[in-house]
Amino acid sequence: MLTLPDIVEQAYGACGFSAAGTVPFALLDEERERFAQWLAQGYGADMAYLERSADYRHDLRRLFPAVQSVVVTLTTYRRPPDVCQPDGVPRIARFAWSDDYHPILKRNLHRLLEAIRQYDGYAGSGGRAVVDSAPAFERAWAVRAGLGWIGRSAMLIHPRLGSFTLIGLLLLDIPFGKGWPLPARVEERCGGCQRCMEACPTQAIAAPRMVDARRCLSYQTIERREAVEACFRPSLQGRIFGCDRCMEVCPYNRLSQSPLLPPEAGLDAKPERMNLTVEDWRTLTPEVFDALFAASPLQRAGLDKLKSSL
Ligand code: SF4
Ligand code: SF4
Repeated sequence: MLTLPDIVEQAYGACGFSAAGTVPFALLDEERERFAQWLAQGYGADMAYLERSADYRHDLRRLFPAVQSVVVTLTTYRRPPDVCQPDGVPRIARFAWSDDYHPILKRNLHRLLEAIRQYDGYAGSGGRAVVDSAPAFERAWAVRAGLGWIGRSAMLIHPRLGSFTLIGLLLLDIPFGKGWPLPARVEERCGGCQRCMEACPTQAIAAPRMVDARRCLSYQTIERREAVEACFRPSLQGRIFGCDRCMEVCPYNRLSQSPLLPPEAGLDAKPERMNLTVEDWRTLTPEVFDALFAASPLQRAGLDKLKSSL
């Protein structure tokens, strides 16, 4: 009978993932403490749901009581250079060039669960797919699974894939075998680099691995219910949804040999949304927006807020 880590290693690619690792379930006490410090500084802005989520993020049994092993997956959304937004159009963060990744990654995680069940001894396995964009805990699981380190930008950096990645968790009721190999952790490799901190247009990276969401353009343009605060508007520089600056400057995102988005992932970019000009945006009606941006993450901000950032 194959071990779960061996099965995951064999199966993740066909399910649309770029990398995966398998670890035993554990409580994340250290990460909860760091998350509490981050919230105590006010860095979570008005995202009260983050505070409410701290306990279940610390203890994954609240999401899936039978959890015994955790499969952590990464999906890179690095695309070929010709897949990009034209110069001068309102800018959208790269993760939002496709349809909303949450249901797509969940589908891929369910595919992986199905693949695991095909192996001898695993037919009755149960699991739950977890995909969330909230900070800290998914990244901590990825570190445990040997998939990278947390960079000064607070993003997970995979040594080969960089940080344009999406993290998915598959919580399984499969006991992690005593003799099964634990993934080797990747040591921190930022070294003396501080490019992300220096390049951030709003100095939102208050300290290494501590992003003040109140100052972050991703929060300002996506999560904040109201329009972007006036003091941050000059820093938008054409951005209307999200910000990739701290990742664009990271040397680990400029490696020429890094793998691209796997076609099996189902996260194809949508040029008809990426190419809209300022004028197109200004004249966009709610009806056309809803039709053109159905299933897009931009629905989260809504047309009024997007227009207010132009
Ligand atoms: S996303 Fe943009 S604003 Fe936020 S920390 Fe990174 S560079 Fe700064
Ligand atoms: S830009 Fe430099 S400091 Fe920031 S995450 Fe990348 S390697 Fe680390």
